[in-house]
Amino acid sequence: MTTTVGVIGLGNMGGGMAATLARHDFPVFGFDLSAAARDKAAETGVTPVSSLPELLEHVAIVIVSLPKAEHVELLCLGKEGDQGNAQEGASLMALGKPGLIVIDTTTSTPETSRKVAAALATRGIDFMDAPVSGGPKGAATGSMSMVIGAEDEVLARAMPVLEAMSGSRVHVGSCGAGNVAKIANNMLAACHLISTAEAVSMAAKAGVSPEKLLEGLNVGSGRSGATQVMFPSWVINKAYDSGFTMGLMRKDVGLASDLTDALGLELPLARTVARLWEESSATLADGEDFCAIVQRTDSALFGHGE
Ligand code: NAD
Repeated sequence: MTTTVGVIGLGNMGGGMAATLARHDFPVFGFDLSAAARDKAAETGVTPVSSLPELLEHVAIVIVSLPKAEHVELLCLGKEGDQGNAQEGASLMALGKPGLIVIDTTTSTPETSRKVAAALATRGIDFMDAPVSGGPKGAATGSMSMVIGAEDEVLARAMPVLEAMSGSRVHVGSCGAGNVAKIANNMLAACHLISTAEAVSMAAKAGVSPEKLLEGLNVGSGRSGATQVMFPSWVINKAYDSGFTMGLMRKDVGLASDLTDALGLELPLARTVARLWEESSATLADGEDFCAIVQRTDSALFGHGE
């Protein structure tokens, strides 16, 4: 029997995931607060619904793709003190049927994942954190990667849907572990963007073109996601259209700082990188592309208009 899937949050990532699942012949229902996002999803074979109760009537698995941990907690548990969701008078806790599986792809916090999973379990609802990498293109083509925190049995039940929506999956531990791994990943991506900008700027001033330098780095030991994907796709051509915003990356860098604090760690390099991203809010708005952070290193080389 084909599993009916619901996607909550039809933005840059969730919209692509819903379209991918529809392309794989899963019946897909999609919910977003934004009517424009629902209309766009309808063009990709997704059935849009305008309320959470309507979505939950149909589905056996729910994919969540919301901006932050607080959005996930509100959706799953409702407001503190009641069982309601602020927007809908409903939450997954209040309305989800026993047996429902919730796959949260939001880059969230391990604490939120564990808290929500424990609460939903009391209603017979399973929850896993499965944050993703690969950007809107990876979501839309089903080639994104996932780091998953889940129990083995829940993961096995969700696997056909996970396989349809992603190119690779790494089961890193039980609930919460996915977000630990994703925070570590984005801590590195935040660092690599700045360190690559510094290396490219230095080499350019020493007479080596950015294109030739990247070619050399990508066959050498300095290569990373920044040298292999971000610089060629969104920086060198000054497109700055990755579909991942500065606001969301600053959120992720903040999550890494919070985890570092909670563990009582020093990590001087991560602290410096976090400070640079935080300070960037003075010149780079939340809606800008996250790759624009490189312009702080060398505005003449990486900025627009020269
Ligand atoms: P986005 O802002 O494009 O999409 C979020 C969507 O959620 C919006 O359409 C918004 O209207 C909707 N929404 C917000 N609250 C809602 C609610 N209560 N109910 C229903 N819909 C609601 O964000 P995105 O870029 O798609 O990112 C989603 C998550 O994926 C974030 O946690 C982000 O950090 C992570 N992520 C993004 C990328 C990327 O390249 N964009 C890559 C990896 C991970």
